[in-house]
Amino acid sequence: MEANGTKGLVLDEPLIFEKSSPGRVGIGPAHSDVPEADPSKTLPSKFLRKGIEGFPDISEMDAVRHYTRLSQWNFGLDSGFYPLGSCTMKYNPKINEAAARLPGFAMLHPYQPEHLSQGALELMHSLENYLAEITGMEAITLQPSAGAHGELCGLLMMAAYFKAQGKPRTKIIIPDTAHGTNPASSHLAGFKVVPVKTEGKGALSVEMVKAVMDEDTAGLMLTNPNTIGLFEKNIKEIAEVVHSKGGLMYCDGANMNAVMGLVKLGDLGVDVVQLNLHKTFSTPHGGGGPGSGPVGVGKALEPFLPCPRIKKDGGKFSLDFNRPNTIGRMKAFYGNFSIMVRAYSYIRRMGASGLRRASETAILNANYIKERLKGTYHLAFDEPCMHEAVFSDKFQLGSGISTMDIAKRLIDYGYHPPTVYFPLVVHGAIMIEPTETETIDTLDRFIDVMKAIAEEAKTDPQLLKDAPNKTKIRRVDETRAAREPILRWKKV
Ligand SMILES: *Cc1c(COP(=O)(O)O)cnc(C)c1O
Repeated sequence: MEANGTKGLVLDEPLIFEKSSPGRVGIGPAHSDVPEADPSKTLPSKFLRKGIEGFPDISEMDAVRHYTRLSQWNFGLDSGFYPLGSCTMKYNPKINEAAARLPGFAMLHPYQPEHLSQGALELMHSLENYLAEITGMEAITLQPSAGAHGELCGLLMMAAYFKAQGKPRTKIIIPDTAHGTNPASSHLAGFKVVPVKTEGKGALSVEMVKAVMDEDTAGLMLTNPNTIGLFEKNIKEIAEVVHSKGGLMYCDGANMNAVMGLVKLGDLGVDVVQLNLHKTFSTPHGGGGPGSGPVGVGKALEPFLPCPRIKKDGGKFSLDFNRPNTIGRMKAFYGNFSIMVRAYSYIRRMGASGLRRASETAILNANYIKERLKGTYHLAFDEPCMHEAVFSDKFQLGSGISTMDIAKRLIDYGYHPPTVYFPLVVHGAIMIEPTETETIDTLDRFIDVMKAIAEEAKTDPQLLKDAPNKTKIRRVDETRAAREPILRWKKV
């Protein structure tokens, strides 16, 4: 099978320091029409230096080519299909970028006084209301800057809630299908994690929760849809068990892309939920860039929300710091404001029916892939999935081919590999999340490639063992690469 987009010239590029030639300059400032000042007369000598050691001297054009070439080594959503499970790598409409660049938003200074920030505050206030409506929660904070940061915020509020009652609780129940950030955030918030096994059933049962929930347990942290891509059908009954012991129900809402407009988490007994604007609400992510992890709460946790809160009084917006029970600030200034602008723009552009349709299509696309690949790759749970489908390498292991080989071979065909070896409960997991923004042609082509790879596993396994064969850097020892990164491009 012919690979996608693997022909063409991608130029090598040395380090920018290696392109340096003394005296070359990249910018030519206009001649100054004011007299030159002597820095030694105005600045203390310890702040003065003759030059910057090792700083590259290159021309403007060299600088442009350098960074353009490096950018061509990247694989991004705008260059190809990126079915990275659990990450919702969907298309980020360019209209969001245009909105975020409007000078009134982009140039806003975080210290600008309230009366000159009314537009920004109004946008944030509206966004909070939209997210409250979508999740079915009472109130939203926009402060946290990632999903995990939102988890921490929610858990700190839970801790504050029990403390305010004079009975701090020490434990959190977390099923084995949880995202790795859930136990990490719980530890950070000072809780002990009580793990529960779903025992290969793919969903949490009411009995399992009953068996561990007690009055020293702050609550349960559940991802819904869960990390296997299944909807936790018992969530309402589970919430009842948690509530019956005075506990709170935390829902990790990072997978909201499957349920927007279809399910209101608040109606299912959820007391606190975090959203990932950088996933569901189509703002660019990956590579550690800025994100946003708003948290929604029910009535019980509302007094504990981070401050300041955005208050609307008549037609005026202000920041309210007068919140005696608040857990305090989670983030400086407003949080990652430009991400909020993008999410606001996305929600306005889509409307309620558009959001619902996005979720429906995300589910449809994942089920399409699941049905068409299930004979070729082992399906972990053969039942209707939500927005992602989890396969494994069980059928290929006989040829000595593992999930890693399949993932690396996909690179040769021009695709970003799916999420691999996660969720942990599925041995050799291959987790595919196509999202709603891909066309059926893209899905069909990807399915054909996945089938071709399964065939190669039988006929030419070495091809997979060696993969990726067409990239600049071949297969690396990933553990070593993470610990001892070699960032210099070596000529071969
Ligand atoms: C992505 C994700 C997170 C973590 O979100 P970050 O923004 O990367 O911190 C948490 N839970 C689930 C289920 C996720 O998919």
